[in-house]
Amino acid sequence: MKKDDCIFCKIANGEIPSDTVYDDEHFRAILDLSPASKGHTLVLPKEHFDDALSADEMTVGEIFKTAAKIAAAVKKTMDCDGINIVQNNGEAAGQTVHHLHVHIIPRYSSEKEKIVTWVQHESEPAEQKDIAARIAAKLS
Ligand code: 5GP
Ligand code: ZN
Repeated sequence: MKKDDCIFCKIANGEIPSDTVYDDEHFRAILDLSPASKGHTLVLPKEHFDDALSADEMTVGEIFKTAAKIAAAVKKTMDCDGINIVQNNGEAAGQTVHHLHVHIIPRYSSEKEKIVTWVQHESEPAEQKDIAARIAAKLS
């Protein structure tokens, strides 16, 4: 289902023009309007899901398959050294457009900054065991 006030629904379904690199029955891939690097591409499902956690299994599986295929074409085209495939869920995780999308970001060895970074902390064995058990319980 499309959502009336969602810009990515309109772009994915061709109601708003975009620099499209790929289009099939379920997905459209477009160049990001404010790219992190040249060739920064977004893969959007045509159906609206807020994020990967609320999307169905088929969409989540297929969007990553599609992203990997497009990433290979982006890498050949842009002649980059690496690619970040990134997907943000929720404002706290940096999501600004609340329609599921996967970023394909070309990376170059000459770049100084890493785009996807986090600070690593020491882990505490007892707490790790507790967290692992609690997550596992939700999955069983
Ligand atoms: P998020 O932060 O939600 O993971 O990523 C949203 C991305 O969408 C950003 O990189 C932003 O530049 C891009 N974006 C936002 N609005 C538009 C738009 O209207 N057209 C295109 N092509 N990209 C957009
Ligand atoms: Zn949408």
